Amino acid sequence: MKEAFKRKINEECGVVAVFNCHDASEIVFYGLHALQHRGQEGCGIVCSNNGDFKLIKGAGLVHENFNESTLKKLVGDMGIGHVNYPSIRGGNDVSMLQPYLFRHCDGDFAIANNGSMVNYQEIRLFLEHNGSIFQSNSDAEMIAHLIKKEQNSNMLEAIKGALNKLEGSFACVIMTEDKIYACRDKHGFKPLSLGKLNGGYVVVSESCAFELCVADPIRDIEPGEILVISKDGLHSEKYAEDINHHMCAMEYIYFARPDSEIEGVNVHLYRRETGRLLAKESPVEADVVVGVPDSSLSAAMGYAEESGIPNETGLIKNKYVGRTFIQPSQRLREKTVRMKLSTVSAVVRGKRVILVDDSIVRGTTSKRIVTLLKESGAKEVHVRICSPQMMHPCYYGVDTSNKEDLIGAFKTIDEIKEAIGADSLAFLTVDSLYKAGKRLELCTACFSGLYPTKIYE
Ligand code: SF4
Repeated sequence: MKEAFKRKINEECGVVAVFNCHDASEIVFYGLHALQHRGQEGCGIVCSNNGDFKLIKGAGLVHENFNESTLKKLVGDMGIGHVNYPSIRGGNDVSMLQPYLFRHCDGDFAIANNGSMVNYQEIRLFLEHNGSIFQSNSDAEMIAHLIKKEQNSNMLEAIKGALNKLEGSFACVIMTEDKIYACRDKHGFKPLSLGKLNGGYVVVSESCAFELCVADPIRDIEPGEILVISKDGLHSEKYAEDINHHMCAMEYIYFARPDSEIEGVNVHLYRRETGRLLAKESPVEADVVVGVPDSSLSAAMGYAEESGIPNETGLIKNKYVGRTFIQPSQRLREKTVRMKLSTVSAVVRGKRVILVDDSIVRGTTSKRIVTLLKESGAKEVHVRICSPQMMHPCYYGVDTSNKEDLIGAFKTIDEIKEAIGADSLAFLTVDSLYKAGKRLELCTACFSGLYPTKIYE
């Protein structure tokens, strides 16, 4: 993906599954459209018409790949879909685009996954030494091979056996001729929710997609759960006993849409609360609070409410920057942040600004925004980050798997403050991540170094 349009942190993917709904492909399309923020590199939909599977996938955005005529080719009342980001292992290779469709004598099936296994290398070697041949480096393809390696004609038992061998994060949907299986890893890293639509069901990575699908939310798929959706209704099985609710804290902080509800906590309200807590933990005298659009606007609102300092729109995001733009030179590349963000000079000129952002990864974006504000006349820029200092790599599917890329891994807060040119800098505490959502469990490994799983690689 071109640097100009890369998000600060990339996650991998969103999934949708639709069962027993007329024109399932259309509903999957709308679900994927609502989840576009989770992946812009490529997308795909596979539908089943009484066991006749048809798949369309390609690079680019959902609306670039699907229209009325392509959706008409995907006949059937069942379907699954996927939007993806370049993965840690596969980059932006087209072989990584999902869903995958497998032809098999026991029945065709399709799979779409969001997540990453920490024991991928071990399982892949095991499978290859036992005859599997891979077409990609995708975790989803590996799950499919594992399922078939179980050699169990009972699909549910085969899926259970396969999932029990996996360590890491996954939220996947598997479609056979007459069933959909919605599965979440036993640690609960990734969100996955179930909704109802007329007589059918919809499964989505984030509940914000229900509205566009015109579905009513029912509940989250539980960690360690395999939910079987068939003409007989819903059937829930646990594939593991030792389950946790280690939801990725970055889902709340950054990835998810503010209108999503994850495990009973609305994302906008969570972010607003982190802003309030940050204002209590790290107050500073200033004239105006400015949030970085879009993911930090809710937190800026909370910071302003708690501190009593007015919240202003000091930065505007250019929503019309296309993803296919080519940066022809270094000089233009340096204009990147100006193309994405503009300051409202009238708001920041001569003011002491509290800049609220969600995270600092490499520090380059923060430095550019601080510079922009100062060039627009801000007297002081105090940076307040609504997450703790990111010091450790993520092995669960977020593209911060290289410690070398994390400024927080090597610099003190004072050094980061100098590097980004801020007048002061403060991060939220790890404790407040739990407090903001009244949660007992979360994955906070990239901040705390406490990984919920064994780390293999
Ligand atoms: S390590 Fe960080 S980014 Fe990765 S799953 Fe945990 S909280 Fe999320």
